[in-house]
Amino acid sequence: MEITVSDWFRTRGGMIRRILHYPDPELKKKSAPVTVINDKVRELIRDMAETMYDAPGIGLAAPQIGVHQRVIVIDVTGGDEEPMLIVAINPVIVHADGESYEEEGCLSVPKYAANVRRHSRVVVKGLNLDGEEVTWKADGLLAIAFQHEIDHLDGILFIDHISPLKREIFRRRYRRTQEELQERS
Ligand SMILES: [Zn+2]
Repeated sequence: MEITVSDWFRTRGGMIRRILHYPDPELKKKSAPVTVINDKVRELIRDMAETMYDAPGIGLAAPQIGVHQRVIVIDVTGGDEEPMLIVAINPVIVHADGESYEEEGCLSVPKYAANVRRHSRVVVKGLNLDGEEVTWKADGLLAIAFQHEIDHLDGILFIDHISPLKREIFRRRYRRTQEELQERS
């Protein structure tokens, strides 16, 4: 019987890692391609999935936990739906079209959301856990998630896509929220 990624994930055992928050400079670094898919990479992916589901979030990129390798995990299912974990190693957008302007958030930018201009459809190529080349054709939320997570691999956050004015307002408000959180703890 074929073992799906979801089955593999159900064996769990991953560790919840600390998610880095903006303005951590580690989030601005470019990640390097994975050259060998070994146990270390599989462990990283297991930890990333565990961390994403625990948060909970619909996507996570390795640099968000301080590992600068081109690996992303995504699961846009929700509620009572069967989880569908997507693991993409060295993902590349090979085709994109259409326009969308949807609200996004990020586990690395807590308590903030903004509308971001993206493509509404993408075709992504990358490797799966077995090192096989996979092509994902995505639209809607999944297309947005792919673009958001692949951006992380290049040190780009969704707030880098909003207007300078909105970003300035965000910075001020975000600083204040951080200060309040610190005062409370
Ligand atoms: Zn993010």
